[in-house]
Amino acid sequence: MNERIKENLYRVKANIAEACARVGRNPANVTLIAVTKDAEPTVIRSLMDLDHEHFGESKPQELTRRNALICEAMQRRIELPGLMADPRPVIRPKWHMIGHLQRNKVKAILPVVDYIHSVDSLRLAEEINTAAARLGLEKKVKILLQVNTSEEPQKQGLAVGALIPLAEQIKTLPNIQVCGLMTMAALSDNPENSRFCFGRLRELFEEMKGERITGPEFRHISMGMSQDYQVAIEEGATMVRVGTALFGERKPQPEI
Ligand SMILES: *Cc1c(COP(=O)(O)O)cnc(C)c1O
Repeated sequence: MNERIKENLYRVKANIAEACARVGRNPANVTLIAVTKDAEPTVIRSLMDLDHEHFGESKPQELTRRNALICEAMQRRIELPGLMADPRPVIRPKWHMIGHLQRNKVKAILPVVDYIHSVDSLRLAEEINTAAARLGLEKKVKILLQVNTSEEPQKQGLAVGALIPLAEQIKTLPNIQVCGLMTMAALSDNPENSRFCFGRLRELFEEMKGERITGPEFRHISMGMSQDYQVAIEEGATMVRVGTALFGERKPQPEI
């Protein structure tokens, strides 16, 4: 067991509980998604041994690669029961695709992914719909629509005004279920600066529910990262995506 990851997990969970208490919410209604990025597989396993189930990846190739590594390790545990006297059932990680998704990567992740948070165009939704049919998936693909609430031009996500028209169009695609909305706030050292974006996503969510653009499965608001997940919870997040606060600082990524 990696002790540091255990401490980090407990601290993040305690912070989630505190944020919920401040606004009278039940922590059971907030899903913590551990964003793995370049975290080591052994650290991911440590989290799973602590009964953590939800993981997020921003790159499709990483998502499928890590899933295969973890499932293989789990399989070994089943085949060698004497080595691990662990009576708990084997859990499978639940994967959340949270980063930009190119259409040619859709087919590879669909069999593995639980939620796709980053749908921001009709073309991508159509690709998901067609690929799901071709793969003969039994369940509808659960997606969230990503909204650019900060209105920074370089940000991924739908313009606020494009959200409802897109949701109406996606309704006609039989293999997709729109389960909620996702946003990223502008980067800032002060979590309070994210509150405006988060409040805006929550308003859009309520508006879509109120106008019955979506069904009962529309119930998720994915917002908040290491720097601002507590503010996100105060503003109504049901899913927070936390990397650094669990796994530590990442290696610097090359500028794209
Ligand atoms: C990396 C990433 C996160 C987590 O970021 P941290 O600041 O490390 O918590 C959350 N959401 C998305 C879309 C990401 O790419």
